[in-house]
Order: sequence, then C-alpha cells, then structure tokens
Amino acid sequence: MLGFEKETPFDDLHEECGVFGIYDFDGGDVASSIYYGLFALQHRGQESCGIAVSDTEAPKAKVNSYKGMGLVNEVFVGDRVEELKGNIGVGHVRYSTAGESTIANAQPLVLNYVKGTLALAHNGNLVNANQLREELSYTGAIFQTTIDSETIAYYIARERLKSSSVEEAVGRASEHLKGAYSLVIMSPRKLIGMRDPYGFKPLCIGKRDHAYILASETCALDTIGAEFVRDVKPGEIVTISKEEGLVSDTTHCLPEEKQGRCIFEYIYFARQDSYMDGISVHDSRIKAGRFLAQDCPVDADLVVGVPESGNAAAMGYSLESGIPYGTAFVKNTYVGRTFIKPKQSNRESSVQVKLNVLREVVEGKRIIMIDDSIVRGTTSDRIVGMLKEAGAKEVHMRVSSPPFLWPCYFGTDVPARKQLIAYNRSIEDIRKIIGADSLGYLSIERLESLVDGLPICKGCFNGSYPVDPPTEDIRGEYEK
Ligand code: SF4
Repeated sequence: MLGFEKETPFDDLHEECGVFGIYDFDGGDVASSIYYGLFALQHRGQESCGIAVSDTEAPKAKVNSYKGMGLVNEVFVGDRVEELKGNIGVGHVRYSTAGESTIANAQPLVLNYVKGTLALAHNGNLVNANQLREELSYTGAIFQTTIDSETIAYYIARERLKSSSVEEAVGRASEHLKGAYSLVIMSPRKLIGMRDPYGFKPLCIGKRDHAYILASETCALDTIGAEFVRDVKPGEIVTISKEEGLVSDTTHCLPEEKQGRCIFEYIYFARQDSYMDGISVHDSRIKAGRFLAQDCPVDADLVVGVPESGNAAAMGYSLESGIPYGTAFVKNTYVGRTFIKPKQSNRESSVQVKLNVLREVVEGKRIIMIDDSIVRGTTSDRIVGMLKEAGAKEVHMRVSSPPFLWPCYFGTDVPARKQLIAYNRSIEDIRKIIGADSLGYLSIERLESLVDGLPICKGCFNGSYPVDPPTEDIRGEYEK
C-alpha cells in the first residue's frame, strides 16, 4: 500500500486564527452566515474550524456546536450547518502556533459554569499564558486543552462571579492578559467582542438588517452581504444585546501611541480585499511595491509577483518604475499550506507542486520578482531557480517587508532567530544563498507609511515589541 505523509513544505508564515460572531435580533438561524463568514476567513487558518450557536429566546440557552479538523467545507458537510439551530453564534478557523493541532484544541471553546454557558473564539497569543495557567491550576482548574483561549475563558468565568455582567467580567479578565487577543464571545443573551489594548489583531463590526456581526476581516462581512459599521478599537469591548443594541466600553484602551498593530496583517496575512483600521490591504501592498521601486531600483524587462500576496506589491513596483507587470507563475489553488504527499515520491519538489513558471513569459528576460517575505530562504532559492531554468536572463528579487531578525510571540510563527536566514547574514550573503542577481528589502523606516502612520508592531524586524516578550524559552530562542 502506498504510504502518505503530511507536509508543511512552504517557507510561508502562518496566521493563527480567524474569528466570526453574529447575533440576529429577529431570531433567524445564523449558522449558515457563520459558515460563509469562516469560508471568507479560511486564509487565516486551515487546520481546524468550528461553529457554536444558541437560541437567545430559549429558556435555557443551550449551545449547539460542531468542530473538526480540516477546511470549513471539509468539516461542515451534509446537514451539519442546518442542524445547528440558533440566532446567536460564534465561529473560528485555526492554525496552531501555540498548542497542538488536535480536535481538543479546535475552537470555539464552549464552557459551562455557574452563570450559564460561554462560547469563545480567540485570535492571537498571550505572552503570559503559562504563568496564568499555573496560577489557575493552583486554584483547582483542570484544563482540557493546551491553548491560551481556555485560560482566557477560565478567567472570564472566574471574574463573572464577582461582576454584575459578562462584559464587565471580560474587562476584568483582560487585566490579567498580556499579549495579543481579538475575542468573540457568546453568552446566553449577548455577543461580545474585544480587541487587546495594542490592537495586534484586527476585529471589525458589521450589520445586516437586524443582525450585528463581528469578524476578523471585512471580507467576511462582504461575503454575507453585511455592511461595514466600524473597527473595534484596540482595547475596546463591544457588547451586542437585543435590549441595548451595540454598547461600547473603552475603559481598557491605551493612548494611541502605545498601540501596536501587526504590520504583517497588511503585508501578508489579511485578504487583499479587506480593510483594517481604515486602511485598504490592497493599497498598503501597492505602496510597499512603490517604495521598493524608489529605494531598490534596477533595470529590467518585467516585474512579477509570487502569488498571491506578492502580486499587489509587484503591481506597485511596476506603476512606480514604468517596467511592465506580468504574470510568471501559475499557482495550484488546490494545494493548501499542508498537503499529503506519497512517502515514496521524494523527487517532486513541494514548491513545484504549488507553483509553475510560464516559460513563454520569462524566457530571455530580466525579471524583477517580488515576494512578501523571506523566512528561512528555502522557498526563495527554489523559485529563483525555477525562473532561471525557464530561461530568465536575470532574476532580481525584491521583498515587500524588511528582513526578519527576531521571532514573533503574538500569534505568527516567525521562528527562533537561528532559523531566520537574515539573522547574522548580510543581504549579499542572502543573495548568494538564494541565487538571485540582486536582492532588496523594504526598509523598516517605510513600514508606518504603509498604514498612513498608524502605530504598529515591528518586533520581528527590530526586536522591540509593544509588550515585553516572555522570559521563558517558548520559541527556542535561547537554545544553544
Ligand atoms: S512581531 Fe511581527 S509578526 Fe509578530 S505581531 Fe509584531 S509585526 Fe506581527
């Protein structure tokens, strides 16, 4: 029998999660809207997904939930969506950067406690999760998962006993949390959203008829025909109830200059058609390309992007430089971030499974190739090699982010320093390793301009994080 093995072969970065919540005041079932919302957020996590719904009019708000490993359309097959009855609900797609990839760690988490039931979906990583878990364990908590989100849920449940409302408990719990968290929480009669005070991860509010929606990205609102209302502010708690509509609590917000949005959301993670904190992701990528053309010019015949996130930056480079834009790569859209590879076939390159080059476009030409990042460099050298094998005369690589020099602790799997190609190497060293004729990165000084001066996190580029990183070795950072 042919053996198979799971591979994560690409030198891509991964987002941790996408969250979605909806409350229909008219009482309509919301599971299918959550399904489509999660479908639009699939790029944020492909390992597991789940939906939890409840009926706000039922005397005892019972939660119906279903979770599974895989893509949204693989997990929710047959009548699984229709069977989830209820007019309030939350959903989640996950890629694991903390906690193992198992069904127990899939979300939403549903928690029964003395005041009722909570369902919680979380995007981000806490830097003090281990410490909080230990504290809770000493007070008798028994954990069923290895994810930060369970710690958050426990704190909310614990604070609820001392609070007059669930939103007050969320605010109190947040005072214990350090790190990145965008939360969507369903209580029996309320939908609550919160973004950490630094605003690492996005969260926005939408409306469709008499339903309110919370989602990681605006593309999920568009998919279900909802209008964008506004972004949740960093540190803000929004509570949605039938009695009061949408109520905002900004007592946990920080002064704007302390905020630190993840700039990588704009460069790579978010879908190009999304807007986050008033900034179009597409526009910020075009700008990155324009800056690269200004700062790292080179004479060439064609600018091409490594799909998908390199394409807009390539367009920006072309617009700024006047060098024509072209399509050099065909992507196999059926290859996810992990795929199953027969054990006996070691000859096929994983990159070639994902991408192929259009020989007629690149043959005999001097090519500028734009990608969003270089992490370990293993993909870049293969892609440069593929262009050259297809007849490109020169390949000039431009990267629409600065070199990665530090790990990320906030929900992105930028690995420990020693695994990063740019650590302890000059740009010329990296150029030689990947085999390009020239190499240029976006300068770190340009990052704020991508988002019109919004305060951002640049920690993985300069080692200065909005929140102090953990002292424990959670990313292998201090390994000898
Ligand atoms: S360290 Fe980098 S990837 Fe992590 S939150 Fe900051 S900008 Fe984003």
